[in-house]
Amino acid sequence: MTPMMMSELTITSIMKHAERVNGATEIVSVTADNPRHRYTYKDAFKRVRQLANALQTLGAQPGDTLATLAWNDYRHLEIYYALSCSGMICHTINPRLFPEQIDYIVNHAKDKWVFVDATLVKVLEPLQDKLPAVKGYIVLSDEAHMPDTSLNNVHCYEQLIATEKDEFDWPELEETTPSALCYTSGTTGNPKGVMYTHRSTVLHSLASIAPDVFSLSVRDIVMPIVPMFHVNGWGLVYSCPMVGAKLVMPGPKMGDGETLCALINEEQVTCSAGVPTVWLALLDYLAKANKSVDSLNRVTVGGAACPEMIMEQFQNQYGVDVQQAWGMTEMNPLGTFNGGIPPLLDGISDEQRKKLRLKQGRPSFGVDIKVVDADNNELPWDGESSGAVKVRGPWIVNDYYGYDGKTLDEDGWFETGDVACFDEYGYMQITDRLKDVIKSGGEWISSIELENCAVNHPKVAEAAVVGIPHPKWTERPLLLVILKDGEQMEKAEMLAWFEDKVAKWWIPGDCVFVDSLPHTATGKLSKKDIREDYKDFRWQDES
Ligand code: ADP
Repeated sequence: MTPMMMSELTITSIMKHAERVNGATEIVSVTADNPRHRYTYKDAFKRVRQLANALQTLGAQPGDTLATLAWNDYRHLEIYYALSCSGMICHTINPRLFPEQIDYIVNHAKDKWVFVDATLVKVLEPLQDKLPAVKGYIVLSDEAHMPDTSLNNVHCYEQLIATEKDEFDWPELEETTPSALCYTSGTTGNPKGVMYTHRSTVLHSLASIAPDVFSLSVRDIVMPIVPMFHVNGWGLVYSCPMVGAKLVMPGPKMGDGETLCALINEEQVTCSAGVPTVWLALLDYLAKANKSVDSLNRVTVGGAACPEMIMEQFQNQYGVDVQQAWGMTEMNPLGTFNGGIPPLLDGISDEQRKKLRLKQGRPSFGVDIKVVDADNNELPWDGESSGAVKVRGPWIVNDYYGYDGKTLDEDGWFETGDVACFDEYGYMQITDRLKDVIKSGGEWISSIELENCAVNHPKVAEAAVVGIPHPKWTERPLLLVILKDGEQMEKAEMLAWFEDKVAKWWIPGDCVFVDSLPHTATGKLSKKDIREDYKDFRWQDES
């Protein structure tokens, strides 16, 4: 007998708490069939029970995996809860993956049914013959807006749940029951699945609401722009109901600055989270339309390094605090967060503060983290020693789903593939991905730092730096630049920009102006594709 109760940490407990304590809180969504749908948590969980009954009617069983191809909206939230709380697994699929990747992961996960947004049926139509295990498709729409589709065995979501009872006897689940599945976008090899559990989700949500992390409260109005199809929308779909924060979900409009601005102002959004590209879209719209976002007091930027320009524009022009987060699919995703600054650092200069805020932040409680050298020796947190980042903790992957290879190292740590250094206050600064780091003359050059430096040039819209083999230096950095509309620049001007900003030997060996750069399905630069495109590049000083 343990002296304290052993309640299972389940998503069902989040749902029951949210309905009882925060039932009146609103959820507002943009969907293909309704530009502004609104209801309450109480309404949502009533429909979740109807959906759980509908799943039984369809013959889905506890332990089954069902997929979603959907945007951030109230129906996707209902599916999250109905599946996980019924003991099924909610497999979220990124609709921007290549068709062959979607085909691979649906088959690998053995998805039985696929919930698909009305705007995304076209993604699945050409694939359905390759998905023999899928019994049918449920289109997220009301009857009036059902799209014409060649998909087989199609149900309309609203019709499916309409006739079901709104009572459901939720099963008593063990906390280690799998709840959701997300595949990494597979920048190398096939995508790998990370199976979250009820326990990892509850602990991650508890940690993420803390004051120096998302700092979520019942008074917050949160707009998750980070997609629910990737790493559970950073867990906001669980943490917001936990505290009773109002949710505002942009649906298919998450990349549309005008809609985001309207949602923020009309719904009085206080806090939002997303990858750097969505912030660029919003900032661009705000500047062009001469709009403000007065209710917004903070945004979290993660998934890729936060460009200084995003931080400065938000802070200086719109009074919005920018907080950077670092994490990954394998970490549920939270790892570090740049929230409150320790009082010990109160006296630092504005310049030092700016540098500090651009770091990836401090580990959240629950994430055990270390940096190691090439021989796996742990490095000190001295602000200088940079090495491979390893993590362990209750919301970190233990075993990739259905994977034959090794997930952890011999000591039970997960190697993140990131390279970083920590300072004595626990702030982590990512300098690169292990596979993207540039090895020049026996030293490492950070491609991320060079990219950040390049995008701070007023004429630069986007930049990428990759290491290209060099006969003398092993590799040299090659800079690829997209200029802003209407701008022109010579190579020499671009390269001179780095002179007083980075070490001389870090300055890119050459620069190419391009019209576009390849991105992965999660919106990150695809360095693998860039390296492939430039594999025949010759340096001028090569003999
Ligand atoms: P995928 O490669 O499948 O898109 P994730 O979305 O899980 O995988 O991406 C995780 C990776 O994204 C991290 O390992 C890191 O390299 C990068 N990343 C995430 N947040 C940040 C950040 N704030 N700064 C720099 N890199 C980041």
